[in-house]
Amino acid sequence: MSSITENRLHADPSIEGHDPHPRRSALVETDMQRDRAKTIYEKSKPGRRAFVAPELDVPSHALPEKFRRAEPPKLPEIAEPEIVRHYNRLSKRNFDLDTGFYPLGSCTMKHNPKLHERVAALPGNSRLHPLQNPKRAQGALQLMHELQGALSEVAGLPHVSLQPSAGSHGELAGVLLTRAYFEDRGDQRTKILTPDTSHGTNPATVTMGGYEVVKVGTDEHGGVDVEDLRAKADEQVACLMLTNPNTLGVFDRNIEEIAKIVHGVGATLYYDGANLNAVMGRTRPGDMGFDIVHFNLHKTFTQPHGGGGPGAGPIAVSDRMEPYLTKPQVVKRDDGTFDLDYDRPKSIGRLRGFQGNYGVFVRSYAYILSLGSDGLQEASETAVLNANYLLAKLRALGVTEYLPPAYDRLCMHEFVLSGAPMKKELDLRTLDLAKRLLDHGFHPPTVYFPLLVDEALLIEPTETETMETLDLFAEALANILREGAEDPEIARNAPYGTPVRRLDEAGAAKRPVIRQPL
Ligand SMILES: *Cc1c(COP(=O)(O)O)cnc(C)c1O
Repeated sequence: MSSITENRLHADPSIEGHDPHPRRSALVETDMQRDRAKTIYEKSKPGRRAFVAPELDVPSHALPEKFRRAEPPKLPEIAEPEIVRHYNRLSKRNFDLDTGFYPLGSCTMKHNPKLHERVAALPGNSRLHPLQNPKRAQGALQLMHELQGALSEVAGLPHVSLQPSAGSHGELAGVLLTRAYFEDRGDQRTKILTPDTSHGTNPATVTMGGYEVVKVGTDEHGGVDVEDLRAKADEQVACLMLTNPNTLGVFDRNIEEIAKIVHGVGATLYYDGANLNAVMGRTRPGDMGFDIVHFNLHKTFTQPHGGGGPGAGPIAVSDRMEPYLTKPQVVKRDDGTFDLDYDRPKSIGRLRGFQGNYGVFVRSYAYILSLGSDGLQEASETAVLNANYLLAKLRALGVTEYLPPAYDRLCMHEFVLSGAPMKKELDLRTLDLAKRLLDHGFHPPTVYFPLLVDEALLIEPTETETMETLDLFAEALANILREGAEDPEIARNAPYGTPVRRLDEAGAAKRPVIRQPL
């Protein structure tokens, strides 16, 4: 056993089995927990109100009968202090980015500057009606137009649509653009290639877009297996969807060769740019030969995300894809005014209501303006530096003896460890390690993805963490391994200090319990 087993983690007095007064605390907790577990509907009491509207002092106009509800909606009836406590309590039981380090690989959980919230909340931004006549919404249109310009510059592609509202939605836009492009040429194609490292949304999008998914293998350096690609790239292939750096945190050095092969059969090259955190200002997908890129403003460009909240997945495209872009497009007219352009006969049409999540655009615009192009480049450089620092630290602490990097080379903004040796030697799974990290106050990294790596752990520290935080995280991993070498049962039953223990995660997704009264 290595140095890791020398100092055992001090037993945490708050964890089960170490409580000096187990019965007393158990009693107190049952009552509290019962109350805390109540839904807002269970707390409801008829007649309670948080807000009572003043008497109407204008003429009332009743809705026509046919639009009226037969019965009032079943909303919880609850007083304001109870509402505040309820949601405040829920928020504290959650683990979020403002709570602690959140190295969830592929998700780019970077700090979201609070300044952006203030800018997005300015009345001119937050109160603008989506149906406002474009002539009276010049500021908003200008902001969107300038954001398009900035994203175009980052991608190295000339045309941008802000409409798609998620990364996967941007992917769908890209696949639909590809379909429109080939249909316009009378060229019937049936397949889209995705590497076996790709994010799960890629093959899902391909299927949704009506194409057959064909997997491409990975070579020993973690990049696309170029020979496999060559064998599979034929005239039936419409597109290759690629992430570079990919979800292994590896930059594919063969990208020019890959672009040549794909363009050689007339197919489009799609860049899954959900995570641009390693490349901003350093390299551009357009320069690598990509035709279509999507951005996740809710990853790289600091829109807070998680829990399915508002996002944006704009796309940037090359000249040949431009005619098919979504409509309306935000444009600048010759007289210098901004407008919505509906005159797009070859467009794939509208992908969502209005222009997308405008507040997201404001936050990302604020981010880009406050950092400037040098700042964006520095953000990427620091993200890569932080990931490599953390990996080096894990090596120095001996953690990589049990959790070796899947690809032993310079990583980009994230890296993948394999928990296979840990499982073999300590009989601990990656899931156990992830759960035990919660007791150390860290959100676990992404686990069991990419699927290619056995017992995978995908770690993305981002540029907004201090060296001290990275050190503490590395030490926590070392401590968990040390503890596991002595008594693996502790991690196997973790977490102990969270509001809930181990969950049936698949069950929660497959059989959600809806406790709203019918
Ligand atoms: C997050 C992510 C996506 C999907 O983005 P959503 O906004 O969640 O739909 C796609 N590809 C990669 C590489 C990602 O990290």
